[in-house]
Amino acid sequence: MEKRKKYETIIIGGGPSGSSCGITLQKQNRSCCIIDKATFPREKVCGGLLPEKTLDFIHYLMPERKMKDIKQVLTIDSSNEIAFYKNNEFIVKSSVKTNFTISDRKILDSYLIDYYKEHGGKIYEGIKITKIDFDNKIIYTSTNQEFEYQYLIAADGVNSYVRKELHASPVQKVSFIEYDIEKKDFDGTKAMTFFDYQGNQLGWSFPKGNYYNIGLGFPKKESDAIKITEEFLKSIGVRNIEKYKRKGALLPNKTILHKPYAKDHILFVGDAGSFSEPMTGEGIYQALFSGAKAAESIIQGDNVVKTYTKKTKTLRESKKILTYFQWVLFHCDNWALHRLQRRPHTITKMVDGHIGKRVLNYKNLVSFIISYKRYGKEKIDKK
Ligand SMILES: Cc1cc2nc3c(=O)[nH]c(=O)nc-3n(C[C@H](O)[C@H](O)[C@H](O)COP(=O)(O)OP(=O)(O)OC[C@H]3O[C@@H](n4cnc5c(N)ncnc54)[C@H](O)[C@@H]3O)c2cc1C
Repeated sequence: MEKRKKYETIIIGGGPSGSSCGITLQKQNRSCCIIDKATFPREKVCGGLLPEKTLDFIHYLMPERKMKDIKQVLTIDSSNEIAFYKNNEFIVKSSVKTNFTISDRKILDSYLIDYYKEHGGKIYEGIKITKIDFDNKIIYTSTNQEFEYQYLIAADGVNSYVRKELHASPVQKVSFIEYDIEKKDFDGTKAMTFFDYQGNQLGWSFPKGNYYNIGLGFPKKESDAIKITEEFLKSIGVRNIEKYKRKGALLPNKTILHKPYAKDHILFVGDAGSFSEPMTGEGIYQALFSGAKAAESIIQGDNVVKTYTKKTKTLRESKKILTYFQWVLFHCDNWALHRLQRRPHTITKMVDGHIGKRVLNYKNLVSFIISYKRYGKEKIDKK
């Protein structure tokens, strides 16, 4: 076996950001490979909520496939209602025109990787990287293989190994705890339900086939997170909690960047690049988008980092806006939730026009404010 393999681009991590980058490069016949420590299909802690913009981006990556076929493979459940609670007190429910698909990451990530492979993409799975020599651009693995690259894509998630090896500044992480609760143990609804829990945490319940995916996010470091999540589940009426497996994960929601993490020939994408959104906890679209933009920047050549910075500006703007909205929700929760109760069309407008269909960057924020003011009052939809 040849000990050293050479690729123009090596992508570390085969999640949505890595596969999107790989697909884009592969379609332009650029030499690349993905290295992942896991073997696909693999589990990933995630709500699996795919707004229309995420499905549109998947379709953009694979235009020859029909949207209806993509949806058929990826959909486990769907919803076009959003409800808000303060603790277990119902506040407001609103219908949205945008349809939200709820998928499973085992299915979604394998679907993307399989497509990459169908287009000739090479993936090395179940491989542990032992060292990266950034000066000579060589990756060493526990299987005694060596990989030489010109460009390196860090698509290795929130706990990025590449970031640690580079001694880059760490990202500020938010922790999440989630459960898949069988429908017989929770009287939930079809709505994507969000809970302002004790003015500190944001909880959610999404329908997911035979289950509800229910969890709590902790914007601040919390040593009692498990106990608080169990109390939250009990407070909203989940039964037999002890029989369910708890899953925990982190998201880089709090780090706001003015420029993307990038260094010479290294680009950080997806969670490794701190692109996930605060408030919504959304990160799949951002991963797909940043992965594809990293590939396009390499294809374009010239100043790759500068091009990548320009192409991902919209994601950083959106993160800043949603960080502000999240601040309002937690610091003025009585005011914010009452306002939503009186004007549920705020939810409809924001979700239909922005979170569902496009990112909320500065330009879209202006159009949101203008259209919101024009929009008449809607009847409050009481449960
Ligand atoms: C509880 C929770 C709920 C969420 N719900 C949603 C949701 O409903 N909708 C949404 O859009 N987003 C959601 N997200 C966010 C979303 O999961 C992430 O933003 C998304 O997975 C980021 O994709 P990625 O490709 O950057 O990283 P990942 O999906 O994390 O993929 C990283 C890959 O890198 C590999 N890897 C890691 N380290 C190494 C290494 N050293 N060597 C080789 N390979 C390595 C891993 O095996 C993995 O395959 C949620 C997140 C959490 C925590």
